[in-house]
Amino acid sequence: MKINDNYSRIKSSYLFTEIAKRVSEFSLKHPGKEIIRLGIGDVTRPLVPAVIDAMQKATLEMGSAATFRGYGEEQGYEFLRAAIAAYYGKKNVDLGLDEIFVSDGAKSDIGNILDLFDNDNIVLITDPVYPVYVDTNIMSGRKIRYLRADESNDFLPLPDGKKADIIYLCSPNNPTGAAYTAEQLKVWVDYATDCGAVILFDAAYESFVSGSLPTSIYQIEGAKKCAIEFCSLSKTAGFTGTRCGYTVVPKELVFEGAGLNSMWLRRQTTKFNGVAYVVQRGAEAVFSAAGQEQVRKDIEYYKENASIISEALKRGGIKHWGGVNSPYIWLKCPGKMTSWEYFDFLLEGPNIVGTPGSGFGENGEGYFRLTAFNTKEKTQQAMERLLSCAKAT
Ligand SMILES: *Cc1c(COP(=O)(O)O)cnc(C)c1O
Repeated sequence: MKINDNYSRIKSSYLFTEIAKRVSEFSLKHPGKEIIRLGIGDVTRPLVPAVIDAMQKATLEMGSAATFRGYGEEQGYEFLRAAIAAYYGKKNVDLGLDEIFVSDGAKSDIGNILDLFDNDNIVLITDPVYPVYVDTNIMSGRKIRYLRADESNDFLPLPDGKKADIIYLCSPNNPTGAAYTAEQLKVWVDYATDCGAVILFDAAYESFVSGSLPTSIYQIEGAKKCAIEFCSLSKTAGFTGTRCGYTVVPKELVFEGAGLNSMWLRRQTTKFNGVAYVVQRGAEAVFSAAGQEQVRKDIEYYKENASIISEALKRGGIKHWGGVNSPYIWLKCPGKMTSWEYFDFLLEGPNIVGTPGSGFGENGEGYFRLTAFNTKEKTQQAMERLLSCAKAT
């Protein structure tokens, strides 16, 4: 038996293990110090009442022969796809129910979609990046070209004019928090159309968008012919542990005479058996009027934390991006520190844990990610400590 040797080419996910190691060593040496975690990449607010009510009701249905459900509809229950389509309708995006695929989250679909594409494709990925895009391509032996996201382009790179076949865009972005404007996305859509590329658009943070920026790539003219969109209730509605997302594959996506929609349907019905009925009922409730009002409050809570961080960094004279359309703040390490030097500085001084930017790719070196997922009280406390340490140095 020969193994898939591409796995030996994946960088070990040393980022979060190294963080855990440094934090536990520090705690052992300084048992009295209370550490505040602003490195959390997971939501912390509980599921909203509308979701809990719907899931409890669905659980009871499953316990009665008259209402029990076995295998569900292939692309996800119609009640949920209709709710998602209505949600898109409010964004002025018209989707057919057969263009929506309910999934157990965006991460799996982002990885699995590669089943549809030949290995001999040029993959374009912006760097710094959500590591899933990189690792899933390396696992299947594809070559990756990186596009630099940096201060010169406000971490929103545009096409460099060189050929690409598969293009990953994440807006609002993890880790930088940067969000593309409609004009910038139009440049990407036109570029993909010109070179016959497909855009894989990760909209996991769409609900964090403020103001009039696009929340779906399909708000851009021409996108239905070149883009697949991945979305998730993980960050929108606290579903990181509950697991539900959706992928939009428009019928207009045709490459070499093949419709990606029917290919994805074939792929999913062969390798995936759907999301739990109870969870799909919970997901449906997210899109109800009560559900929307409730999840919006939690998103505002996180966004208020982001603005607390942002304000403090401004006062401390620390250059930063993001936080407005995202739960992430991306900052430039002061004093030319490397990402890991700043990690140690924050841990040892104000006792704050964040995430070194270098963990998200080469261009992340010298930067640092703080997240808005802690409580408001802890976030405020962390920022007070950060500012008093900044004054002391
Ligand atoms: C959290 C996150 C997702 C969502 O993943 P799920 O599998 O739906 O939990 C997708 N993309 C990015 C960039 C993320 O940060």
